[in-house]
Amino acid sequence: MIYVDNAATTKMSPAAISAMLNCMEETWGNPSSLYAAGQRAAEVLQDARERIAVSIGAAPKEITFTSGGSESDNQAIYSAALSGARKGKRHIISTAFEHHAVLHTLQKLEEYGFEVELLPVGEFGTVTARQVAEAIREDTILVTAMYANNEIGSILPVAQIGTVCRERGVIFHTDAVQAAGHIPIDVKKQKIDMLSLSAHKFHGPKGVGVLYTRQGIPLTSLIEGGAQEMGRRAGTENIPAIVGMAVALEESCAHMAENAARISVLRDNLIKGLSQIPHAALNGLPTNRLPGNVSFCFEGIEGESLLLLLDEQGICASSGSACTSGSLSPSHVLLAIGRSHEVAHGSLRLSLGEENTEDDVERILKVVPETVAYLRNMSPLWRDTLGGKKAFVLS
Ligand SMILES: *Cc1c(COP(=O)(O)O)cnc(C)c1O
Repeated sequence: MIYVDNAATTKMSPAAISAMLNCMEETWGNPSSLYAAGQRAAEVLQDARERIAVSIGAAPKEITFTSGGSESDNQAIYSAALSGARKGKRHIISTAFEHHAVLHTLQKLEEYGFEVELLPVGEFGTVTARQVAEAIREDTILVTAMYANNEIGSILPVAQIGTVCRERGVIFHTDAVQAAGHIPIDVKKQKIDMLSLSAHKFHGPKGVGVLYTRQGIPLTSLIEGGAQEMGRRAGTENIPAIVGMAVALEESCAHMAENAARISVLRDNLIKGLSQIPHAALNGLPTNRLPGNVSFCFEGIEGESLLLLLDEQGICASSGSACTSGSLSPSHVLLAIGRSHEVAHGSLRLSLGEENTEDDVERILKVVPETVAYLRNMSPLWRDTLGGKKAFVLS
């Protein structure tokens, strides 16, 4: 099997698994309990918090453990919105190609009278700090812009956006779920106020993540109950998962440069090879994209059919976001970069990871072009296009 869907989730690191097992066997106490077994669990929790903080340039107190990227995004946005509303500020800036954990939260806030402005991302899928600066108003409370896009891999200039927001006194949140463990993060240097990350995107367990919140930025809990996480998120901590996340993040950060160098060579070979397919287009910029991201649109095919046929050949890929698969509407990300509905339906995302090899690339470059040709041959619409009854959209 060739697994090239690492943007959907990653295989767990053996070191993270063994740390989790050890934790479940040895440190199963409740960290809020005062006896020794509880306090041992509290120490393990604190150790994980410190290690995660170091990995992103934060202080341990600025780390809140959550159930993952979606919860972190929700909490960051609701918290900033509430603190803004108290001061009469109700304007929020974001981008058109955020993850649904951000976009759907913003839609909810619109129902409650907040004004949400989604910046256009252009044909290559990015926003500039200047766009952000021009959109900021007196009543802007929050800018939420992702660090790297999960479908087309583009990397946003977060440090510049952070600088603009800091100067103007606006909270800056970034969904760094695709970035963490893959490209460098330094919340202090990049002037990030809030940041979301999720363990299962960097070989940690599912169902656990972090919301970093800079000291002094207000944080409201979404879950009420006990005083865990300094009152910012109630519920007994999922210590094994948190420990697994800390190990996986440290491991990913330790090998980040070498992995990125190796994987981006595979990525570039795939991009070069797939670009040979006629009437195909790369989504996003050739450079300045995540080391493992390859995203294409192929005219005249259905992405879903392509995925099923690739699966039969042992290749696990995606047509974009795992969250939208099964729905008939095309990806909002591809529409945001200006793809037509028709072309957006023919998308393929390959997200490479540490385990992929040159042999994988070779096999993909054999199977994908063949399968695209096969699907096109079966399509009456494609025959019409070839016959000149319909114009090609992609050259
Ligand atoms: C996967 C992902 C999320 C959601 O994270 P979960 O931990 O699965 O909730 C949020 N944002 C981006 C960019 C993602 O890729």
